[in-house]
Amino acid sequence: MSGPQRVDAVVIGSGPNGLAAALRLARAGRDVAVLEAQSRIGGAVVSQELTLPGFVSDTFSAVHPAAAASPVLARLPLAAHGLEWVHPEIAMAHPMPDGRAGALYQDLEATAASLDELHPGDGRAWARWARPYLEHFPALRATVLGGFPPAAGGLRLAAGLKLQGTLEFARLLLTSAEQLADDLFEGPHARAWLFGSVLHSDVPAEESGSAIAGAYLQLLGHAVGWPSPRGGAGALTAAMADHLERLGGTVLTDTRVERIVSARGRVAGVVAQDGTRLRAPIVIADTSPQAMVDLAGAALPDDYVARVRRYRAGPATVKVDWALDGPTPWTAPEARRAGTVHVGGEAEAVTAQTTAVRRDEVPERPFLLFGQQSIADPTRAPAGKHTAWAYTRVPPQVVGETAVRAHADRIVAQVERFAPGFRDRILATHVQGPSELQAGNENLVAGDVGGGTYRLDQVVFRPLPSLVPYATPVRGLWIGSASTFPGGAVHGVPGWSAAGYALLAARLGR
Ligand SMILES: Cc1cc2nc3c(=O)[nH]c(=O)nc-3n(C[C@H](O)[C@H](O)[C@H](O)COP(=O)(O)OP(=O)(O)OC[C@H]3O[C@@H](n4cnc5c(N)ncnc54)[C@H](O)[C@@H]3O)c2cc1C
Repeated sequence: MSGPQRVDAVVIGSGPNGLAAALRLARAGRDVAVLEAQSRIGGAVVSQELTLPGFVSDTFSAVHPAAAASPVLARLPLAAHGLEWVHPEIAMAHPMPDGRAGALYQDLEATAASLDELHPGDGRAWARWARPYLEHFPALRATVLGGFPPAAGGLRLAAGLKLQGTLEFARLLLTSAEQLADDLFEGPHARAWLFGSVLHSDVPAEESGSAIAGAYLQLLGHAVGWPSPRGGAGALTAAMADHLERLGGTVLTDTRVERIVSARGRVAGVVAQDGTRLRAPIVIADTSPQAMVDLAGAALPDDYVARVRRYRAGPATVKVDWALDGPTPWTAPEARRAGTVHVGGEAEAVTAQTTAVRRDEVPERPFLLFGQQSIADPTRAPAGKHTAWAYTRVPPQVVGETAVRAHADRIVAQVERFAPGFRDRILATHVQGPSELQAGNENLVAGDVGGGTYRLDQVVFRPLPSLVPYATPVRGLWIGSASTFPGGAVHGVPGWSAAGYALLAARLGR
């Protein structure tokens, strides 16, 4: 083991937040090293041939509206590093048992027309409601996809929405998706269409905070679409890593940090399992809060550690990838043209999913987020063939090979209800249960894909109530993962924000 090497900053973890943090530091002229435990860069943004040769699957995330909207990624020259967004004709479709589907087009009028066809008036109500937010989308984006505190964006949004609109927005933040649906819709399709997007988070549609969770994703669909990188999610990671390398940053894979070293209340560097030792005055953890606390050990005061330990996980997940002999044969024509399909049917069936998982019951008909990126991106599969990707949240007893396989069978049966003949198109299947997800990325603690639950209090105060939630009591040690404001999805904001505060503190000599 050689003596410790010195760098200006270490980032622990190469997920989109780790890379965003490293890029901000490197752009400020800092010498940055990113240490990644896995043998591949990217955290939950990677693509692999999981099923058969020639079929590119996104091992974790696949659909990237938040990345397309991200003010952080917009600052980076990612197109010059090979990133190209592919937009499906329809962002999302939500098929119902009657063979019809609610559709989310990027175009608001097209969406309204399709919802009106399902129930006259529902589309117009949606368009009327959404329009002010879309008119002020830059301010909304600055609020929701800015760092904490979201003050500057919030003030801009308030100025744009005026007093009444601001009060309506405040109510939206606090209300439930059920209430928003009651306010806007009379027919069953639009209601289910909204609830499906709520379930990208783990917040039940009857709870506070679920209205904004669902509505925000639909608004992103209108503002920027729900695109995916051409060639696979990994193309986004490759572009970020390539840019970092050009700026002089390095990424060491197979290098799991096992200890954060500090002295006299200041961070001093890290030690990795393979003996790599780096000295640095800035360390940013793209990890879970609990992992950061474990790595830092006794340097953190007990009360801070106790508060971090109260951080709540979200439910576990089962994810399935398929290689298919042809496109998924959805009954609803809109679902055949959509990049993402919400599979669950009526609003009551969608809410039954969260109710079951909360009660530790296994949903017989699991609600699925289903991605079919090969519909719009032929590079994902051999000519005429297709890929598909689906995940669903599960109660804790769905763990271990037998239980996970049984749930994968329920997932296929659920797709069959809306796409008869799907099973016959399957050429190969790859299944990840909670343990496999965590083995592939230790931030996915017990298969929680969200980096912690999205219950309202923990979205706002993430990982804990603090004016600068990225800061820790050890000077120079920061946390900037999906477990910090504004939370999960691929956008890089937590990492970028943590790096911004780290640079500010360094300038102030702290
Ligand atoms: C199955 C799944 C599907 C998803 N689908 C979507 C989607 O479609 N769209 C979307 O926007 N988001 C999606 N997400 C969420 C999104 O991928 C995450 O919110 C995002 O990747 C979080 O980024 P991050 O940088 O905070 O952490 P991660 O991407 O999880 O990266 C953390 C990295 O840190 C590394 N690490 C941890 N501890 C150490 C250590 N001690 N030493 C060294 N390295 C360490 C890990 O190995 C990992 O590479 C999905 C997530 C999952 C799991």
